[in-house]
Amino acid sequence: MKNLDRILVAIDFSDSSDKAFNTALFMAQKFSARLLLVHVINEPIDLRGFYVPHISFDKLEEEIKAGAEKMMEQFCRTHFNGFDNYESLIVPGIPYQEILAVAQDKQADMVVLGTHGRTGLDHVLFGSTAEKIVRKASLPVLTVRLSEE
Ligand code: AMP
Repeated sequence: MKNLDRILVAIDFSDSSDKAFNTALFMAQKFSARLLLVHVINEPIDLRGFYVPHISFDKLEEEIKAGAEKMMEQFCRTHFNGFDNYESLIVPGIPYQEILAVAQDKQADMVVLGTHGRTGLDHVLFGSTAEKIVRKASLPVLTVRLSEE
């Protein structure tokens, strides 16, 4: 690694990603790095016109995106304390793929994420997104565990 200029942190709004965020922010401050917050809207199964033809899928997608943007705005408002060297992105897709794609696109030097996310399953070492990112990433990955157990 040449430098730590851009740190990507994956946010799924769980307590686990909150803790990962705190670690990422700490590092960004220490290394004067830019923080890239990424939230991936899990691509919903395509139900267009299949079960419920009268429901507009496009409208639903718009509302989900608007809801995610609101959550991200609120997250940034409550989690940043004067630190302003950051940007946030919301992208649709499969979380591990999009996180790695953004990391490459934005030339991140490191990815920080929780060992687990909103699905819990604490008995497994890593959640499925974390596990895939650790296995497939070509850049350093820092995983942060929520509890000390
Ligand atoms: P998981 O592997 O799904 O249990 O989640 C592990 C970590 O991956 C979370 O703590 C987040 O840091 C990240 N993550 C999971 N899902 C998403 C998502 N949809 N968008 C952004 N980050 C995510």
